Amino acid sequence: MTTDGDIRVRFAPSPTGEPHVGNLRTALFNWLFARRHGGTFVLRVEDTDRNRYVEDALGVILESLRWLGLEWDEGPEAGGPYAPYLQSQRLDIYHGITEDLVGRGLAYWCHCPRERLDRVRKERQRDGLPGGYDRHCRDLGLSGQGGEAGPVVRFKMALQGETVVDDLIRGRVGWDNGLLDDFIILKSDGFPTYHLANVVDDHIMRISHVLRAEEWLSSTPRHLQLYDALGYSPPLFGHLPMILGPDRAKLSKRHGSTSVLEYRSQGFLPEAMVNFMVLLGWSLDDKTDVICRDDVVESFSLERVGKGAAVFDLDRLQWMNGVYIRSLEDDDLAERMLPYLGRSGKGDRAYLRRIVPLVRQRLKTLAEAPEWTSYFFEEELAYDAAELVQKGMDLDSTLGALEAVLGVLEGVEEFSAGSLEGVLRAAGAELGLSGRKLFGAIRVAVTGRTASPPIFETMELLGRERCLGRIAGAIGRLEEQKAGSTGLPA
Ligand code: GLU
Repeated sequence: MTTDGDIRVRFAPSPTGEPHVGNLRTALFNWLFARRHGGTFVLRVEDTDRNRYVEDALGVILESLRWLGLEWDEGPEAGGPYAPYLQSQRLDIYHGITEDLVGRGLAYWCHCPRERLDRVRKERQRDGLPGGYDRHCRDLGLSGQGGEAGPVVRFKMALQGETVVDDLIRGRVGWDNGLLDDFIILKSDGFPTYHLANVVDDHIMRISHVLRAEEWLSSTPRHLQLYDALGYSPPLFGHLPMILGPDRAKLSKRHGSTSVLEYRSQGFLPEAMVNFMVLLGWSLDDKTDVICRDDVVESFSLERVGKGAAVFDLDRLQWMNGVYIRSLEDDDLAERMLPYLGRSGKGDRAYLRRIVPLVRQRLKTLAEAPEWTSYFFEEELAYDAAELVQKGMDLDSTLGALEAVLGVLEGVEEFSAGSLEGVLRAAGAELGLSGRKLFGAIRVAVTGRTASPPIFETMELLGRERCLGRIAGAIGRLEEQKAGSTGLPA
């Protein structure tokens, strides 16, 4: 019986590319399980496939885990922050164990050249025989010396019977041993295969629960037989459900699932990302969709991990991100917006902090911050003079209105939202213009856009000097336009 304190889980990524949402969902569920039970979360990098090794992938994996706040609890050396375990640095261990298996007649050297293997596989396929290899070298008692292609070591799978796993999520799953190959455990380059290194390390690292993606379920009978041969007691297994796109096809880039760090560049908050990923396979009940990480830690259980595929819905992530953005304190949101703003936006933090309450409702991602805030920082606004002219108005009436507004604003003593509203509404009444018309024109003049946060607050923040300058600028543009349309010099 495993007690809570003994719970040890691991995330075991292979550095073969940038980790995507599916990979990190596995990391997250392991992390949650460890935290829920006061257990240990181990990070082990499975870098034994040298053909698929991608140089920068490890850095991206670590960065993604850190961004999501999934810290791991131990490493090859004492004292944190920990480096991850790297299988490529543990080759001696796998070599010793391979020798032992060969010595005990449970594994064997195979010298079959590539061409033979290819031919045999095709023949077996044609004849409807299971597995790709015919066990040619199984009883030849070959050594590790010689051989054309460089020999490999294969594991002797049981020829009869059944291998069964009681999966924590999927229940009982069984395989007919006769259908399974003598798989390779040590490759000709001296590196172990995933199967061997994975089993050996899960044992040495005292992993109690293996929670991994469903695609690894088919490897489990091999692993169980290895555990048996090595005399190890296996961990418990739980295979997490697949993740599909909204069209129910396997999740891919096409569905907007890319490297997790790409979501950071796109302005998603790690809190929203975690909440979103938690729900890719787990649920608290049938209605809760916004649940913070600490609350998930309180209630995470494998019983509520579904068997059925989870569906990745980018719209939902976007919506959720908006929810989390709106819940941040002003200071916090300002800090998080900073990296997304252009140079002009980075200057004055106090100013940015005052802008935040005006724009937070509109932000779905942090990457939209420049779009909603740039006019607070830019010296020159880029817009087309025609946008100043509101529906039901023309160039002359707009010009007249803005000139009147300029005059009124010059006389305003306190440039606050309240007093601006008072004087501008009065000006509207005097000019006989509706709020839509007058404030629409002012909005374009001071922000350069047709939609903005509430106009009086926006003007207060922009301040007297900027507002007057911009309205004068708008008048200039209209005059230019007028001169151009009549063909007269301005
Ligand atoms: N290295 C495997 C992967 O890339 C680990 C699978 C497992 O967790 O056993 O996902």
